[in-house]
Amino acid sequence: MSVRDTIIDLAHDQAKVAQLKHHARLTDKQVYLWTIEGLAKKGKMEQLFDMAQKKSPVGYAPFVKACVRYKRFDEVKKYMAKVNGYNDLIAANLAMKNYVEAAKMAFDRRDREMLHSIFLKSHEDKIQYEKMSKLWSCTETVLNGGIKMFLYSSKTSKLRVAVGEVPGPMVHGSVSFVTEADSDDGLPHTLEHLVFMGSKKYPFKGVLDVIANRCLADGTNAWTDTDHTAYTLSTVGSDGFLKVLPVYINHLLTPMLTASQFATEVHHIDGKGNDAGVVYSEMQDHESEMESIMDRKTKEMIYPPGNPYSIDTGGRLKNLRDSCSLEKVRNYHKKYYHLSNMVVTVCGKVNHEQLLKIMSEVEQEHASTIPDHFPKPFSIAPCEIKESRVEKVICPSDDATRGSVEIAWFAHSPTELEVHSALHVLFDYLSNTSVAPIQKDFVLLDDPLASGAYFHVAEGVRCDLRLNFTGVPIEKLELVAPKFFDKLVREHLEESKWDMERMGFLIDQTIQNELVKLETNAQKDIISHVIGHQLFDDWDMNLFQQRINEVDYLKKLKSEPASFWCGLVKKFFTSPNATVIGIPDEKLVDKIAEDEEKRLNEQRKKLGKAGLEQKKKELDAAIHENTANHPSAELLDQLIVKELESFDRFPVQSLTKSSSSLTPQQSAFLNQFQFHANLHNCPTKFAEVFVLLDSSKLTQEERSLLLLYNDLLFESPAIIDGVKYSAEEVAKLFTKDLIDHSIQVGVSGLFDRLVCLRMKVAAEKYAILAKWTQIFTQGVIFDATRVKMSAQKLASEAREKKRDGCTVASIAIASMVYDKNSNPIMYDELVLEKIHEKIAKECSKKPDEVIAKLENVRKALFASGLNVHFVADVDLIDRNQMKPELWNWVNEDSRFGKGEQFKASCGEDVNSTLGRQLLIGVGGSESSFIYQTGFFDADWTSDSLIPAMVFGQYLSQCEGPLWRAIRGDGLAYGANIFVKPDRKQITLSLYRCAQPTVAYQRTKDIVKEIVESGKISEAEFEGAKRSLVFEMMKREGNVSSAGKLSILNNFRQTPHPYNIELCRRIWNMTSSEMVKIGGPPMSKIFDEPNYARSIAVHPSKIKEMKASFPGIESINISHLQYDNSK
Ligand SMILES: [Zn+2]
Repeated sequence: MSVRDTIIDLAHDQAKVAQLKHHARLTDKQVYLWTIEGLAKKGKMEQLFDMAQKKSPVGYAPFVKACVRYKRFDEVKKYMAKVNGYNDLIAANLAMKNYVEAAKMAFDRRDREMLHSIFLKSHEDKIQYEKMSKLWSCTETVLNGGIKMFLYSSKTSKLRVAVGEVPGPMVHGSVSFVTEADSDDGLPHTLEHLVFMGSKKYPFKGVLDVIANRCLADGTNAWTDTDHTAYTLSTVGSDGFLKVLPVYINHLLTPMLTASQFATEVHHIDGKGNDAGVVYSEMQDHESEMESIMDRKTKEMIYPPGNPYSIDTGGRLKNLRDSCSLEKVRNYHKKYYHLSNMVVTVCGKVNHEQLLKIMSEVEQEHASTIPDHFPKPFSIAPCEIKESRVEKVICPSDDATRGSVEIAWFAHSPTELEVHSALHVLFDYLSNTSVAPIQKDFVLLDDPLASGAYFHVAEGVRCDLRLNFTGVPIEKLELVAPKFFDKLVREHLEESKWDMERMGFLIDQTIQNELVKLETNAQKDIISHVIGHQLFDDWDMNLFQQRINEVDYLKKLKSEPASFWCGLVKKFFTSPNATVIGIPDEKLVDKIAEDEEKRLNEQRKKLGKAGLEQKKKELDAAIHENTANHPSAELLDQLIVKELESFDRFPVQSLTKSSSSLTPQQSAFLNQFQFHANLHNCPTKFAEVFVLLDSSKLTQEERSLLLLYNDLLFESPAIIDGVKYSAEEVAKLFTKDLIDHSIQVGVSGLFDRLVCLRMKVAAEKYAILAKWTQIFTQGVIFDATRVKMSAQKLASEAREKKRDGCTVASIAIASMVYDKNSNPIMYDELVLEKIHEKIAKECSKKPDEVIAKLENVRKALFASGLNVHFVADVDLIDRNQMKPELWNWVNEDSRFGKGEQFKASCGEDVNSTLGRQLLIGVGGSESSFIYQTGFFDADWTSDSLIPAMVFGQYLSQCEGPLWRAIRGDGLAYGANIFVKPDRKQITLSLYRCAQPTVAYQRTKDIVKEIVESGKISEAEFEGAKRSLVFEMMKREGNVSSAGKLSILNNFRQTPHPYNIELCRRIWNMTSSEMVKIGGPPMSKIFDEPNYARSIAVHPSKIKEMKASFPGIESINISHLQYDNSK
């Protein structure tokens, strides 16, 4: 028997214990502990209690522990009462297996080591481990009656985790923080960028995106709003998601935040004396936009200085240069990025236990980041506008004829959720479709006051309500706001003015739309509801329930009388407001450029030659430091998804009359049609039709009217059941019948030759689709007044597009790579500006001619007949609604051709002469945009396709070779190479370049170098494959997109199911196949004359571009426009 055992055995005999103690030279403490144990073991409970009456040198936890061990449970309580002090309490609770209680205490102390040991102990204890995972309390609820939601809150910290059980293969998540700023330094935005530069545990730039790619995501993303910053992650399957999540959070809570990172990612001066940096060049683009300038003015008028809602959270250029600093960013991080201010939202199929276990580990690891005192952000009084004011701001613009007007009010408090819903319905009523008052009063006029009018409400301590009128002719800028108040608002204070029938239709449509979103975009709603809850609800679950059940409010709104709506108008629109008039100024474009050049020259002068060299050295050193460390192969090997899991895909069957083994229901459905019809049968509660028309018979002249023709379909009078209805009546009726409708060229943006009319209804209303197909094809009556309005509206949209460098560059590249008479060129507001202006004039002089031209377009479109594709669950459609006679009107109209199955081929409409390059000056933005396109002769079944696609992904992926060299060095915001098999093209895009010349040259060098040397990073290759799998699977990410993919696959003539087959091929590809087969086509687009190139730059950069790109043709925007008078 050991000494210990002997003492335990003799514990009740003090004399013998004393003897032994002396003999064996034991310490008081040892003897004391063993005595406690011995007494408990022998059941000498009175003696033990006597002992506890004197102050214990070892605390009271050993008493508790002994009682538990020898099952003296009645006694435990007595000793628990005596336990005190942190260590003693934790030990006692651990003895009692109160892991949760112990963890809470350790948490309060931010005692990370203790938390870890508690966690380990709890794991050893299999029975109690279950309880440990119930460290979370849970509230369960349902999003609009459709998707189950769980809101977990940690019992130890203030961390919260929300889970929405969205069906399908994707898992989407967000991590959000409430962030409040008090200056235009852009701290929240700057920090948002810097967290991606590596964490203390993973000190490698971009490792997070590398890991995300390896876990079947396509990198990570984030946004900075006025009051919060959110980080998002989407993966296919949950394995990858759960692997990345803790690494992601580690970056958020313990980022490195070094000076070198600040230099490259936020701001630096390069060796040529230019200001650069990723955030800097991003903000360059917004600084002089009319929209931004007006928004700043409004904020200045309605908020007191320094109010957090008046701040530019993105950062102003001057602040980024002069006052934003690393130290400020660090302090900002410390203040807002911790567990008490963090919410994790997960949407998709994940194992909750597994997720919570990960979150508990995260909690322990980051306990120490919680500040002792964290005052609730935005604890400020709501603002008020005391009296109405009007101010003007002058904005740089290429188009001196159009300005904007913005009116701002303060609205409700953010927890008045019913008001929020009501306002959205009100906005719809006032502005949606041609029957809406604001359209009638301002837009759809012979002589319009605006080309568009939009309401917006932003939640805040008090919600900020805005109304924007865009494309306002300058001579009318001062008329807009008075007309709004004197006519529209005044009229709507009268009950009789309201069309309550239409209001009812609108509310029903809104409800249906909410239900559609459950199938198509539930994650977006869930994340935004959770963030709203985090910001405003003080964790009141009732408010959360209300937030996610907007449909309940909407239903209630249906019974509100006109007086309710008058009341809303009175309450908000007649309260004091701030109006800002944005006046365009062409000269200001040059003035800003000159001032900037002057500033830069002074900067260069001040730095001098030595200073510039020093700057170059600093930048090189920063880049070097940022990229010096690389994650080890072992680390990367742990953080990868190794198996291609069987994703939870939506089943879609593509069926036609000639398919084998149709069910009776399916064949009844398909037998309705005497033209080509295709059913894409899948589990949806809605029926969506894609009515296709072939535009290949249109002459170029006719095609120049196609955009106008399509625009008129929803804004014209029409014949319905033999009766003529006005445009307003038609709009009201489709609001009643259709959940959604659209018209565009192309099927999901591809095969542009086809014109696609899309409509969506609830499955039980299927039959109504036939009626509306008839109305929107055959039934529309062209009316000169409507045509004129529409043409004017389209012309003014062109004026806005001209200010956007990215749009201009993409139109310029299209002008070179497609046939002249094709939709990719001829279906664009900017290209058709002159045509629309001309038609608008002709409408007054010779309306019959205009209408005859439109009828010719209709005839040419009908000539090939109709094809229809349905995405629906045929079993939800009532057999009585499947009537061939509903579609008889097609056969009876001689204009319709046979409607045989439309075929399309990859690369049609593509013009094969290359070698041109175009340069266009765009005053609206300070950044530059480059597109370069070459041909790639492969379709979806070609062997070379997948290697080229993976190569494109390899080059362009987050933290891939181009990203590092271009974005990482602040040369441009994005550098991507897209392989587009449907267009048989490979396109390079350099987006928002700060330094276009260097960005292009470096891109070219990198691609050439990799193709020639064949040197590949295997780790990046694995990441590229997985992120490409993500992109492929995302195409069937929800049931509606799975249906659309099935339609596309019909035209691609790929076997079914092809997408998953492509994923398998990607998965099994080797890096040498990628380089050998995918490399040459990639390299070729950089060789003259195999490419077409377009560059849009600020006019001040034209000279530099001409020198950098020899042979480039400098043109005006008007050269891109179609003009049939020539
Ligand atoms: Zn940014």
